[in-house]
Amino acid sequence: MSLIRILNYIDGQLVPPIENDWLDNREPATGEVYALLPQSGSATVDAAVQSANRAFAGWRKTPLEKRAKYLFKLADLIEQHADQLVQAESRDNGKTIKQAALVDIPRAATNFRFFAAAAQGFASESYHNDGSWNVTLRQPLGPVVCISPWNLPLYLLTWKIAPALMMGNCVIAKPSEVTPLTAWMLSELACAAELPAGVLNLIHGNGSVTGNALISHPQVKAISFTGGTTTGQHIASTVAPLFKKTSFELGGKNPNLIFADCDYSRMLETTIRSSFSNQGQICLCGSRILVEDAIYDRFLSDFVARTQNLKVGDPQDPQSDLGAVVSAAHFDKIMNAISKARQLGGNILCGGHPVNVPGRCAQGCFIAPTVIVDLPQSCLTNQEEIFGPVVTVQRFHSTEQALQIANDVPYGLSASVWTKDMDRALSVAEQIDAGVVWVNGWLVRDLRTPFGGVKHSGLGREGGVESFHFWTQTKNVCLNYSSV
Ligand code: NAD
Repeated sequence: MSLIRILNYIDGQLVPPIENDWLDNREPATGEVYALLPQSGSATVDAAVQSANRAFAGWRKTPLEKRAKYLFKLADLIEQHADQLVQAESRDNGKTIKQAALVDIPRAATNFRFFAAAAQGFASESYHNDGSWNVTLRQPLGPVVCISPWNLPLYLLTWKIAPALMMGNCVIAKPSEVTPLTAWMLSELACAAELPAGVLNLIHGNGSVTGNALISHPQVKAISFTGGTTTGQHIASTVAPLFKKTSFELGGKNPNLIFADCDYSRMLETTIRSSFSNQGQICLCGSRILVEDAIYDRFLSDFVARTQNLKVGDPQDPQSDLGAVVSAAHFDKIMNAISKARQLGGNILCGGHPVNVPGRCAQGCFIAPTVIVDLPQSCLTNQEEIFGPVVTVQRFHSTEQALQIANDVPYGLSASVWTKDMDRALSVAEQIDAGVVWVNGWLVRDLRTPFGGVKHSGLGREGGVESFHFWTQTKNVCLNYSSV
């Protein structure tokens, strides 16, 4: 079988990297290399930035409705090619066809459509004073960079590209080197949409070569980064002296607080999803489940039974609930975290081992969904992100204790609170260290809302108007006049 050769998209053309360096791309469900992707070096990165720079003067003057037309066209093309994109995302990432078809690919189309429409209603501010009117312009920044991770490849990349383009910037986007396939397909769709050359550039390569060259390029004005906290720290320290605008969406260790008075069956159903969707590889997964004493035993027994019923299997099988984790390296990381939990005295109630999926997936990276109890809050397992199908369950006796445990981590991305007592729900939502809180739900998303984390989960907000603010800089123009 011949390998797919993924190309960069620069200046409206699909091109190989100038350096002629290539990386292997593996299918995590089989372990097989099935594509080669560019390892773009600094010459290629510079070509992409120059192309964005050249396109900027024309794109920033392109009327908003015309920019929106291109994005609507891209959304249409994504929907027309949804089947191929779903297959590709599942193959590249190991996620189930079900997940890619229900979440990833529809959301990529929605991102373009939502931001194309929302930008047309976006307004800047004005301030009136005696003798002056101030008008605050929101102007595009120039060539900007979008860097995304592997867990929701096309979903997260388009969430950044769409508002950046609508605000008049020209984009250089770098998907994760672990999951480049759908970004490559998006570049083909951008050609089909006849997006003007240089407005969007999609380049491939790993973080230490391509990523580093991109973030430190002097003409890049802003970087929106989603990925791990350690990478975020590196980018922050590299670009701070260069005064580039940055937004960081980083890791999480999200608590799922379950009070005894909750709607039990709805909570149980959702908690299965919030724990193991996408093999637990969603930054918003509730990896720490905190349960009130009165229902702790009942919950544990029901939750473990439900978890054991989940089918781990070939991502292409529509019956699979969990597919493969993203790579052999990530498989090792998760398995090491499970071993560490064992050494720390954790009691593994189910899972904790690899799963052998016979047939074409015999060499794949599969892990049984894992539930761990009896670990103190202070231990590594409850403090550090694992980013796999692994949750811990802890017991609490009071609201104060639940909050104390919930907030006792370096992260603060999201939280869920399950209770019918609205006074308690609102009070907990207010006191929890998180950028996003769901009361009686999980992953209910409205793209108009601000999204981002606190503490080591990130800095800055995106979503709705926050994205438009990030992708623009203000200029205040004061209109001075004498009253007649
Ligand atoms: P990662 O940090 O390893 O890589 C993310 C991206 O950064 C990739 O494209 C990578 O090539 C690039 N990169 C790596 N080093 C770089 C460098 N020195 N300079 C520039 N770019 C560089 O993260 P990952 O393993 O791909 O993704 C998993 C992480 O992402 C998890 O921690 C998860 O919680 C986080 N995440 C956060 C959110 C959020 O919204 N907060 C969403 C999804 C994933």
